[in-house]
Amino acid sequence: MAITITDISKKGKTPTGTELNTKGWVQEAALRMLYNNLDPDVAERPEDLVVYGGTGKAARNWEAFDLIVKALKDLEEDETLLVQSGKPVGILPTHKDAPRVLISNSMLVPHWANWKKFRELEAKGLTMYGQMTAGSWIYIGSQGIVQGTYETYAEVARQHFGGSLKGTLNVTAGLGGMGGAQPLAITMNEGVCLAAEMEEWRIRKRLETRYLDKMTNSIEEGISWALEAKANGEAISIGVVCNAVDLLQALLDRNITPDTLTDQTSAHDALVGYFPENMSVEEANVLRQQNPELYVEKSLDTMARHVKQMLELQKRGAVTFDYGNNLRGQAHDLRGVENAFDFPGFVPAYIRPLFCEGKGPFRWVALSGDPEDIRVTDEVLLELFPENKSLARWIKMAQERIAFQGLPARICWLGQGEREIAGLAFNKLVREGKVKAPIVIGRDHLDTGSVASPNRETEAMKDGSDAIADWPVLNAMINTAGGASWVSLHHGGGVGIGYSIHAGMVIVADGTEDAEIRLKRVLHNDPAMGVLRHLDAGYDIAADTARKHRLDIKERLK
Ligand code: NAD
Repeated sequence: MAITITDISKKGKTPTGTELNTKGWVQEAALRMLYNNLDPDVAERPEDLVVYGGTGKAARNWEAFDLIVKALKDLEEDETLLVQSGKPVGILPTHKDAPRVLISNSMLVPHWANWKKFRELEAKGLTMYGQMTAGSWIYIGSQGIVQGTYETYAEVARQHFGGSLKGTLNVTAGLGGMGGAQPLAITMNEGVCLAAEMEEWRIRKRLETRYLDKMTNSIEEGISWALEAKANGEAISIGVVCNAVDLLQALLDRNITPDTLTDQTSAHDALVGYFPENMSVEEANVLRQQNPELYVEKSLDTMARHVKQMLELQKRGAVTFDYGNNLRGQAHDLRGVENAFDFPGFVPAYIRPLFCEGKGPFRWVALSGDPEDIRVTDEVLLELFPENKSLARWIKMAQERIAFQGLPARICWLGQGEREIAGLAFNKLVREGKVKAPIVIGRDHLDTGSVASPNRETEAMKDGSDAIADWPVLNAMINTAGGASWVSLHHGGGVGIGYSIHAGMVIVADGTEDAEIRLKRVLHNDPAMGVLRHLDAGYDIAADTARKHRLDIKERLK
């Protein structure tokens, strides 16, 4: 009789090494990455299958997890497993170059696409919230976001502080799966980070992984440590166990204006991701259970105050931006804070120029489980792109300061042309036995051509096309046609149900010639979608990139 896995303790560890548990390396990669997403060192709440970002899950329930594992073990090299919001629903015949897994998560017909309806359907067991890389099995722990956050703060530093955050006070909140990367990204840019976080265990987790330097329960003490470090030009990060609004109020009352200000609580989910003020974590947990409607009301009230405080600090001179959690949207849409969007989102402010070059969060994972394999790939990357100084700085700092979580992994932002070169080089390493097992290559859905999210990635597009969602759908289709190993199309990641549509792709470099052909196609086409999307919206940098890589359809058809 089949054993049904019912809890994390029975799940077992992520398989590593060179022995296959499946009928091919692509299936094996999907299996290992699913396990890895739920590794207790990687996931925020593995016992509930929650990987990160509020309730972003890897599978709908333990029964579904168990079935996915069985399906991946059974799956032939010419078949494709279909996963509907975290539950496997079929295995159909395809061909060797087709994706082995196709995933659709959290999709709702637009008219019904709101949290209320979603929760009703979720309670009936019909759907699951997949976030971005949770339900598409390519989350690599906080490192995934460190690089993006590092890039963002580096750009903030370039635009406002002469290239470094040395001697600046950077205030934020939320030290969860993604937000936990902020302190490290800020200190890597030489600044002081002061972060509010309600849950003490989250802060301890960041201390353990060395993403955070110090912790206190006293707002007073946190502020005075931060001011001292700022004055001494020291790069230190401090986590304060408190509500974000209490920290900001203390700063306002003392007339202390941070140099930069943002927030990464899971404000996109008012019920599960955000703590109302004047309440302990325990009290909040009880209220959430007993009266979810009241909880959401209180949460939204606090968010409105939170945004107003940020607007006031912005007025006093803080460089203020939204960090992709829809805090502004919640305050604006549900609490009538009319000027909530007076501070910009981080994408239009700092990331879009990179997107125009097809750049985004390229990542890879060593299936062997051996950190040495990642070191080998790091070296290859440095040899491939010797002119890219910021890449070299990042790799060096990442090697020194980033503790691997789960399977060893690396991330760096690569653009059109570069991703293809890197992918083919990794495939060669596998073929020549310079790494011990295949390498999985993927990316966040927060990428150049894979997401429509008007309050985040596609905020304030030049041509007003913020809400046009054809692009991620085309992205998923071209990656399926190109032969990615697994492809996913999701709704609601990052900013919540109703606010985004986005696609993921993962491709396995297993050293074969088939993989080489697929890598060449997929790692060309995937970022090309981003260049085309931004070209179509009228961005000059995208036009230059398109010209350089012969992507402009008008040029082609001349
Ligand atoms: P998470 O749910 O793991 O962590 C959120 C944290 O915020 C928790 O630790 C929680 O205790 C804390 N928190 C909630 N309310 C608080 C309050 N009022 N005061 C202080 N702390 C509070 O989520 P995550 O994975 O860290 O993601 C955070 C947000 O960032 C999400 O909305 C997510 O969608 C978004 N996000 C942004 C990016 C990006 O690139 N900017 C990428 C992915 C996700």
